[in-house]
Amino acid sequence: MTGIAMTASKPTTGPLYGYLTNIQHFSVHDGDGIRTTFFFAGCPLACRWCANPETASLKKAILFYPDKCQACQACRAVCPYPGGLDLSRAQDRARCQGCGLCATACPTGARRPTISAYTVDDLVQAVLPYQSFFTASGGGVTYSGGECTGQAAFLDRLSQRFYDLAISQAMETCGYFDFDRLWPTLARLDLVFFDLKHMDPARHRQLTGLDNRLIQDNFKRLAARHPRVIVRIPLLQGVNDDPDHIRRLAQFVAQYAQDPAIDLLPYHALGRDKAQALGQDQPLYQAPDPSHIQTLKAVIRQAGCDPVTDA
Ligand code: SF4
Ligand code: SF4
Repeated sequence: MTGIAMTASKPTTGPLYGYLTNIQHFSVHDGDGIRTTFFFAGCPLACRWCANPETASLKKAILFYPDKCQACQACRAVCPYPGGLDLSRAQDRARCQGCGLCATACPTGARRPTISAYTVDDLVQAVLPYQSFFTASGGGVTYSGGECTGQAAFLDRLSQRFYDLAISQAMETCGYFDFDRLWPTLARLDLVFFDLKHMDPARHRQLTGLDNRLIQDNFKRLAARHPRVIVRIPLLQGVNDDPDHIRRLAQFVAQYAQDPAIDLLPYHALGRDKAQALGQDQPLYQAPDPSHIQTLKAVIRQAGCDPVTDA
């Protein structure tokens, strides 16, 4: 497939560069078939459990992995600050401009820049060698992050290019975007993964920094117009895994989605290592027990949604 019926004009202008933290080929959990996933930098939410904390900001930063460092001092020699910055010290990290010179000089990969800039052509060229895998597997490209919709104008141009190339497109979104601005892009997609993290606005704000009213409004509008929207719930023990809460959430999805489906994503702690490499502290959560996840899947079914999760 190549998106739903087009209702919008083609984009003609937009920023030259998109800012990404990673391009991951051979992804198999980000939509149908084998895919290339683009991780966009920047996110309006600040989820405490974020799996990709290096995507949170559009401000360039350096990931520092002390266990890979061989103390050769090559990074310090190229740093614009006299003597170089020690990124394991909070004061030095606060001064770092993210210029990336140290990461280029580092021979061991102990320093890595969070963000790189790409043109639309760069990203098209990056995936063309994988097109035969897309065709054979029913795959394509997926926009993820961070929050890809935060770079709406660039994404509009990029999605038009892939649409013209008949490459299937999917998106993972936190749902916090300007719907009217995004609709032309959304209409080019075959599949949207839409996060719903908590139904209560105050609790949502406490957990993510923003309440959920715009997110829920956008879900209703998207579900009314797009046939393939899968809701994703990051599942955290004692935070949002109460059966009554999941029932309420599933009933909301069933009320508005054309083909209601929910994917449960049990919490994992992989984001904590990257947070540490950025000099940040991330709280540790737990995933619910497998038996509790089975209970939640039954709750989702009873509410009229398909639990599409592998968990
Ligand atoms: S990113 Fe630039 S300013 Fe920051 S530590 Fe590296 S060389 Fe120095
Ligand atoms: S260049 Fe890399 S390996 Fe050498 S001191 Fe700096 S961080 Fe460590």
